[in-house]
Parts: sequence; structure tokens; C-alpha cells
Amino acid sequence: MNDIDPNLFSCFAIDGHTRLLGVIGHPVAHSLSPAMHNLALDALKLNYRYLPFPVAPEHLHELVVGLKAVGCAGFNITIPHKETIIRCIGGVGAEARWIGAVNTVTLGQDGRFWGYNTDAAGFMAALDEVYQPTKARPNVILMGAGGAAKAVVAGLLLAGEWGRITVVNRTAERAHRLLDDLMRPELLDEVGFYKNDVQLPEVEAISLKEAADLPLERCDLLVNTTSVGLNGEGSLGIDLDRLPEEAFIYDIVYSPLETPLLKEARIRGLAGANGLGMLIHQGALAFRIWTGEEMPVDMVRNHLRRLVGGI
Ligand code: NAP
Repeated sequence: MNDIDPNLFSCFAIDGHTRLLGVIGHPVAHSLSPAMHNLALDALKLNYRYLPFPVAPEHLHELVVGLKAVGCAGFNITIPHKETIIRCIGGVGAEARWIGAVNTVTLGQDGRFWGYNTDAAGFMAALDEVYQPTKARPNVILMGAGGAAKAVVAGLLLAGEWGRITVVNRTAERAHRLLDDLMRPELLDEVGFYKNDVQLPEVEAISLKEAADLPLERCDLLVNTTSVGLNGEGSLGIDLDRLPEEAFIYDIVYSPLETPLLKEARIRGLAGANGLGMLIHQGALAFRIWTGEEMPVDMVRNHLRRLVGGI
């Protein structure tokens, strides 16, 4: 399996049985998902191809109707369609309804497209690979309150092991809204929080301006979900010197592989990881939904590291 040349997507010829997968976005050319999924499909000799579909919002519905007509097996959805796609498909899973966003759609046995969110579980799978809390009910500070932040907070809540989650955002109202939406009792009930007796942490939302007053000394895990650091630009303005030495930094940005935040963390001797793991694990969960097979994540990781790192 490891001898596949990732530059050659020719191991399995396209024929009359080839099934279609893809990613819908606007823009979508930067997406690593085609490289990730086609490599995994080749490695497992699965007769699917995964294509990018750059589609403006006004054409989303048309595209979905067309994909259904050609029997598309499923697709991913990225910015800016993760919320609006819900109105174009047959139904959504409980977690996606709770998060209010779909990143994976599959053709159900009933012939309808069904939407799921694999970002939350993908984040947690990636975090589990790199971070083991050193104490019970650790505290998380999460920077950002956009679409990715909502899935990350959902994943953290589902894990049920945190003492406090503090959401910090440039636009404070967005952070408040994120928590208000996720903490709605009827939705928590639908996702199974009460039935499974999941322990909810304390949650709070604050603005980036107030971040100077954050009790960073009590932070065990700092997660960046903002786009700050993308392409190596920008700084969150958080004083990492105030974090305890065992604190862990997870930056969901992965380009560059060492983001400015992770570079600063390394200089201060703090451990951290970039968002490549989250990207791969959300993809692996989608891959399983479509094909029933396990993505060869280590092979995919090596390939994506080379693509992002230019090595
Ligand atoms: P989004 O919905 O547009 O949210 C962007 C977030 O970044 C908001 O909280 C925004 O704050 C904040 N922000 C932007 N510029 C800022 C600045 N200069 N200073 C402070 N805060 C700033 O985007 P998203 O979908 O959540 O994605 C965010 C990042 O995560 C992107 O870089 C994306 O590539 C990455 N991502 C990675 C994965 C993965 O699998 N690793 C998955 C999804 C997303 P305001 O609310 O104040 O505007």
C-alpha cells in the first residue's frame, strides 16, 4: 500500500462503474480534500473519483439537484455553503442540526442526500492523537467564534471532560451567539447530553479586547480557530509567557505547518500541533460514511505534509 506514487492517480482506471465524490466551495481551488481522498481511494483500490466543484451561492441548489441526478455518492461542503446546504438536502443528522452546519453529504439508501458534520469529531480525534490532559477537568481557551469554532466547541462539549471553556473573539457578540446556540437545552437533549449524562463545563464568551484579563495561568489547552496565522500572517496578541509550561496549543490552521502561534509556542517550550490532523480526521470520517472503509491516515498525512510544506 505504501508504494503508491501520490502524484499518479491512475491506479484505478475510470470506467462505467466509477462513482462520483467531491467538494463544493467558493472558492475551492485551495482545498486539499481532492488530494487526500483520491490518494486514499487509490490506496484502497476503490472505484470512486473525488472532484472539486467551485460553485457560487446562487447555483448551489442547481448543483445539488444535478449531483443527485447523476447518482453522486456524496460530497464535502466548505466555505461559504456549510449552513445553506441544509436547505438543499433531504435531511441532517442530529449533530449537524445542533452545530447548524454540514460538511459531509451522503446519498442515503432512501435515495435522499443526508448531511452530517464530521468537523467536531474530526477535531477531537486529532486532539486525542496529540494531547492527553494532565489533570481532571482541564480548562480550555478557544480563540475565534466562526464556523470552525462552533464545530470545535461542539466536539469539546461532547467529550464532556472539561472544567471551563472560554470562547474569545474579536467580535464579542459572535462568541456569545455561538455559546447561546450550542447550549440550547432542546438541542443538547436531541444530541443525547442528558440521556448519556454528559458533564457540561462552565462556558463563557469574551471579546479579544478583554483577553488581557484572561486567567491564562489556569489554561490547560489553547485552541486557535481564527484565520489568524494563515499564510504565516498575523498574531493573536496572547501573551504565551503567562501559560503554564504544561499547556498545549492546538492551532487549527495548517498552512504554514508551523504557524506563527506554534512558532511562538515552540520558542517558549510549549507543546503544540497544527490543524492538519483535524483536516485528515474529518476527511477520514467522511470517507468512512461514503465507502465504509478506513482511510489510510498515515499515508495521507505524509502526502499532505509534503504538499503543504512544499517538501
Ligand atoms: P470564519 O467563519 O470566517 O471565522 C473566522 C474567525 O477568525 C472569526 O472568529 C473571526 O473573528 C476571526 N478573525 C479573522 N481575522 C481576525 C483577526 N485579524 N483578528 C482576530 N480574529 C480574526 O472561518 P472558519 O470557517 O471558522 O475558519 C477559520 C480558520 O480555520 C480558517 O483559517 C480555516 O482555514 C481553518 N479551518 C481549519 C480546519 C481544519 O480541518 N484544520 C477546518 C475548518 C477551518 P470575527 O468574528 O471578529 O470576524
